[in-house]
Amino acid sequence: MSTIAVAYEQPACQTQHAWARVPVEPNQAQRLALKQTIRELLVQRNAVMVSHYYVHPDLQDLAEETGGIVSDSLEMARFGRDHAAQTLVVSGVRFMGETAKMLSPEKTVLMPDLDATCSLDLGCPVDAFSAFCDAYPDRTVVVYANTSAAVKARADWVVTSSCALEIVGALHAQGQKILWGPDKHLGAYIAKQTGADMVMWQGSCIVHDEFKAHELRDLKAAYPEAAVLVHPESPADVVSLADAVGSTSAILNAAKRLNTNTFIVATDNGMLHQLRLQNPGKTFIEAPTAGNSATCKSCAHCPWMAMNSLAGVAHVLQTGANAVHVDPALIQPACAPIDRMLSFTQALKAGQGQAVALMTAGAMVEGIGAA
Ligand code: SF4
Repeated sequence: MSTIAVAYEQPACQTQHAWARVPVEPNQAQRLALKQTIRELLVQRNAVMVSHYYVHPDLQDLAEETGGIVSDSLEMARFGRDHAAQTLVVSGVRFMGETAKMLSPEKTVLMPDLDATCSLDLGCPVDAFSAFCDAYPDRTVVVYANTSAAVKARADWVVTSSCALEIVGALHAQGQKILWGPDKHLGAYIAKQTGADMVMWQGSCIVHDEFKAHELRDLKAAYPEAAVLVHPESPADVVSLADAVGSTSAILNAAKRLNTNTFIVATDNGMLHQLRLQNPGKTFIEAPTAGNSATCKSCAHCPWMAMNSLAGVAHVLQTGANAVHVDPALIQPACAPIDRMLSFTQALKAGQGQAVALMTAGAMVEGIGAA
């Protein structure tokens, strides 16, 4: 286990320094033994694995092999809530474990490392964000899922990158003005796409902030047949070069849908595992970065996602350590905007008209402006 320094720059705290604990990579024999131990413990403990696309491929593969899920944060939340298992093992970062716990307070939620955090969460302390909200009392507060339970409790809506456009678009269509936090790049992308009136917290993801437009243009020139897939947490000049912009799930869909065999990918390189698994025969090239990543000088990989490991999963299943706790006073107010998101996306699946109707129904608007 080694500890690495991570610098992050956020408006509420100026430049700050954090850290990440990166586990040692197991050898093949250790890997097989750990996987077998985890399989047995999952059964014994009535537990299921919920892994994010950005964690180590071992944790993605094992989740799928054992009846769990590999997904984006929206599907992680839904799956954990709806699954019959009494224990959820969430491989991801802290806010994902907190969201799982809030949606399933009666379940045990374990994480391989409770210190796995996120620069967006770190850079959006609740006191400063609340003061920002207080300065704009006429605006609907929409926050990204990458925030603490306390910040979610201050919001009217929680969104993920897979539903943010639709939800902000629907609020804008109702004439509502938005206060957005914390990711400035995702906020700018949504404002441009929807035309919504948005004031923004100026946070960013240290991983996606690393992608560089000039170098991406050069790479595109070297691979003219390639389609560029970009996560909207990336800077606007990188997004402007994309053939497809979207959440992790949207990027996976675009790789299947677009009529080319070569892709340049601007998101965390943990995604390459699923992209390659689901698209045999296609080529995926990592988009160029500024080279400042704490975990990998020439690629984009989240240092906090890297804190998740097979050994960590085995340890928490064996000991029950690293249980996620959320202040009980925050559960109801933080769940309300999450429930709105889940209800909206459910209705959206059933049809756009139903989602818009739901948006204007009492149950969906009663919290607006009241948080
Ligand atoms: Fe946060 Fe970025 Fe890491 Fe995702 S990749 S957890 S947004 S720092």
